Amino acid sequence: MDYANCKITDTICLPNSDFPRIVIIGGGFAGLALVEKLKHKKIQLVLFDKNNFHQFQPLFYQVATSALEPDSIVFPFRKQISGYKNVLFRLAEVEEIQTFSNTIITNKGKVHYDYLVLATGTTNNFFGMDKVENHSLGMKDIRDSLNIRHMMLQNLEQAAITCDDKERDALTNFIIVGGGPAGVEMAGALAEFCKYILPKDYPEYPSSIMNIYLIEAIDKLLSTMSNKASSKTLKYLKDLNVKVLLNESVSDFDGSKVTTKNGKTILAKNLIWTAGVKGQFPKGINEKHIVRGNRIKTDGNLKVEGYDNIFAIGDIAALISEATPKGHPQVAQAAIQQGKYLGNSILNIINNKPLKPFKYKDKGSLATVGKRKAVADIGKFKFAGYFAWLLWSIVHLMSISGFRNRLMVGFNWAISYFTYEKSNRLIIRNFKPKTNTKKITSKVNNQK
Ligand SMILES: Cc1cc2nc3c(=O)[nH]c(=O)nc-3n(C[C@H](O)[C@H](O)[C@H](O)COP(=O)(O)OP(=O)(O)OC[C@H]3O[C@@H](n4cnc5c(N)ncnc54)[C@H](O)[C@@H]3O)c2cc1C
Repeated sequence: MDYANCKITDTICLPNSDFPRIVIIGGGFAGLALVEKLKHKKIQLVLFDKNNFHQFQPLFYQVATSALEPDSIVFPFRKQISGYKNVLFRLAEVEEIQTFSNTIITNKGKVHYDYLVLATGTTNNFFGMDKVENHSLGMKDIRDSLNIRHMMLQNLEQAAITCDDKERDALTNFIIVGGGPAGVEMAGALAEFCKYILPKDYPEYPSSIMNIYLIEAIDKLLSTMSNKASSKTLKYLKDLNVKVLLNESVSDFDGSKVTTKNGKTILAKNLIWTAGVKGQFPKGINEKHIVRGNRIKTDGNLKVEGYDNIFAIGDIAALISEATPKGHPQVAQAAIQQGKYLGNSILNIINNKPLKPFKYKDKGSLATVGKRKAVADIGKFKFAGYFAWLLWSIVHLMSISGFRNRLMVGFNWAISYFTYEKSNRLIIRNFKPKTNTKKITSKVNNQK
């Protein structure tokens, strides 16, 4: 490829090519599946991401609870595309799309495209509750997981220092908001930390010092799964002493005290938000194509409505049809299948071949609730327990990018399976809350 001839209009240097240029924004599950489909084809593929690594979000909770180290679940794009001669990676955040000139504007410069693919995923949705957002931690980025880990370890250390009982309660109470898979898995992992790690690392505390609350707005956990999965999960969590509050939602959090819609108050300095996501994408897409959840409306071929050469895939895409009135589920399988599908479609478009509409194949859902327990809905088979957990472990292990990463995760899991030991619980960087929290005083009522 000829790097001496960067297009004059581009301020990010890319080699000239006789092939059509496809720019992909976002190297998540969807973007990477597309890259894999179009590697070695007669196409110039340019992947932009604001990070230089792909993140395996389903295991964020394990990093947050010190079960895994972060580098075992993130994987560098340059390693992923090594040997793919037609694929280029550029580390930049895309800020704007100028659809009239087929150009993207990034924080590092601009580049033109022949086809553009939006695969930018989602970010936390706090539903306008700014105060809750300012004081809590979401789990949408590997840095969030590390923040949760550091917050947790620092607060447990501070609890050993403080002489104030109420302050200690707030430091050792953990609130997880959202009873979907991320919230349930986080609650289970924290409960196991409390059961197996706390007595070893902090012998001065009784395990009862750490309280884990899981708050869910509707009357069941894992609402997208079967009733069996939902009720089993509730039982597993209760067995692990998680306090599950159903039909309850958070209305306020000042960094030290959580208030719920039903008027309950809980002293807590640790609030982990998994209750909702919304699409994130650069500006420039006409607002009339943006639907519920800040997703981008596409046609049956994942083409963004109103544009001839812009596509959306993964969590950001909403393919609204009679069969999918709310779009496809925002899960890894849907993102991967859309990435693969679009790869084939783009080849067909370039070769003037007809397109078939996208069809999602639901391969089932899995969620784990602590070690050796999980729930599974695979077609008409609904099961729970050890076999479901084994299946969960195999599926997740095989889905992680990179042989070395799979090896590291497998090794850590094997050790933890036999010993309940997790990785070293080091406070390497100082976690500072986004906003200073009030010091707890005895005037606050503790209603646990
Ligand atoms: C905690 C958690 C647990 C989950 N557990 C499961 C699970 O168990 N099973 C399951 O199926 N799904 C799970 N999911 C959902 C799953 O991770 C998502 O459905 C999937 O990641 C969506 O893939 P995507 O490619 O659309 O977006 P993402 O994977 O989110 O990737 C988006 C990419 O775009 C990049 N990006 C965003 N904006 C820009 C920009 N402006 N410029 C440049 N780059 C940008 C980001 O850096 C990122 O790399 C979980 C999600 C979370 C958060």
